[in-house]
Amino acid sequence: MSDKFLPLTNRIYEYLQSVSLREPEVLRRLREETARLPMARMQISPEQGQFMALLVQLLNARKTLEVGVFTGYSSLCVALALPADGKVAACDISEEWTQIARRYWEEAGVAGKIILRLAPASETLDELIAGGQAGTFDFAFIDADKGNYESYYERALKLVRVGGLIAIDNVLWSGRVADAEDQEQDTVAIRALNQKLHRDERVTLSLIPIADGLTLALKRR
Ligand code: CA
Repeated sequence: MSDKFLPLTNRIYEYLQSVSLREPEVLRRLREETARLPMARMQISPEQGQFMALLVQLLNARKTLEVGVFTGYSSLCVALALPADGKVAACDISEEWTQIARRYWEEAGVAGKIILRLAPASETLDELIAGGQAGTFDFAFIDADKGNYESYYERALKLVRVGGLIAIDNVLWSGRVADAEDQEQDTVAIRALNQKLHRDERVTLSLIPIADGLTLALKRR
């Protein structure tokens, strides 16, 4: 085993959270409500949300994009980190999950910052591009159906400005991407995008082994 990283045991993970997590109460309640749902594993971890909020601040972001809302934890993290006039264009297809999201966005006082588009995300992204919004977003978070990841990435790359950041979730896919025997559709799609990004000169790249793997791609030109 490589000695370049620390295996994240439960004890170390709890320690990490105990000395770094600053989760607002509204986010904690949303996380706890979501944890009771059958699809709970689709929710990002609280330290990942906090990390993304830091990235949003680092970018001085005002306009962000989210592909895959689920119950709204990540969009709420981002919205809380944005200035008062900041906006999140949020894409999802589930009325059911995003109803929970809307409830917490309201409670947190950021509902006005988040514009939810209930439609297939590729369509919404194409509309934004056609509407002249290419090059105007500071940050994009992609965390939706893995089979469309490449399509979301290409569209997000058009929509973010030079120096804008795209974050792509689940790029380690529970380690399955590293298992050549695993030819399941989603695994293959994520693996293909990872390989493409490795060669993609349009972006500066870093794959962060936080949670299920988060790739950061900074638009160069
Ligand atoms: Ca995810």
